[in-house]
Amino acid sequence: MSSTRSVARSATRPTIAVVLVGVVVCLVAWQWSGTSSERVVPDGTTVFDLDVPAVSRLAPDLLDALRRATTDADRDGVVLDIKSGWRSSAEQADLLADAVTRYGSAKIAARWVAPPSRSAHVSGDAVDVGGHGASAWLSEHGVAYGLCRIYDNEPWHFELRSAAVSDGCPPRYPDASHDPRMW
Ligand SMILES: [Zn+2]
Repeated sequence: MSSTRSVARSATRPTIAVVLVGVVVCLVAWQWSGTSSERVVPDGTTVFDLDVPAVSRLAPDLLDALRRATTDADRDGVVLDIKSGWRSSAEQADLLADAVTRYGSAKIAARWVAPPSRSAHVSGDAVDVGGHGASAWLSEHGVAYGLCRIYDNEPWHFELRSAAVSDGCPPRYPDASHDPRMW
């Protein structure tokens, strides 16, 4: 009887150890990748939704310019939604991996998704806007706030170029692979 119990006990210990290690690995992975709530940008999010990390972790100057633009767009009947803003490095890495799979080529993926160490989204310096007429409105009026499109192939992607208020937006790159910041 006692030997049966000790066999059962010794069989249980490694199982508990495996489960504990599994839990620790999962917790570390969860911390490392950023929580899933960090990645969620609910439909209808605007730059006034500071409970959304994609918004609250944007650079203050960009956030300020976007708020002024959003208020003025609203007067024109256009809602500037934020589809993506700040992203964790892990989320950007996942997006890049997905793009490489989708396009079957790292070279083509580089036209659309920056590596985490180079991404203006990871540094909190870029947003992707959505909503009916949003990117068209911001393309036309964004320069007044220093908000510029950067890439021809991404009409939704805007960054702050403060000098644009007086000098106009700089020439756009055909896509991210032409952007020297990626090199
Ligand atoms: Zn973007």
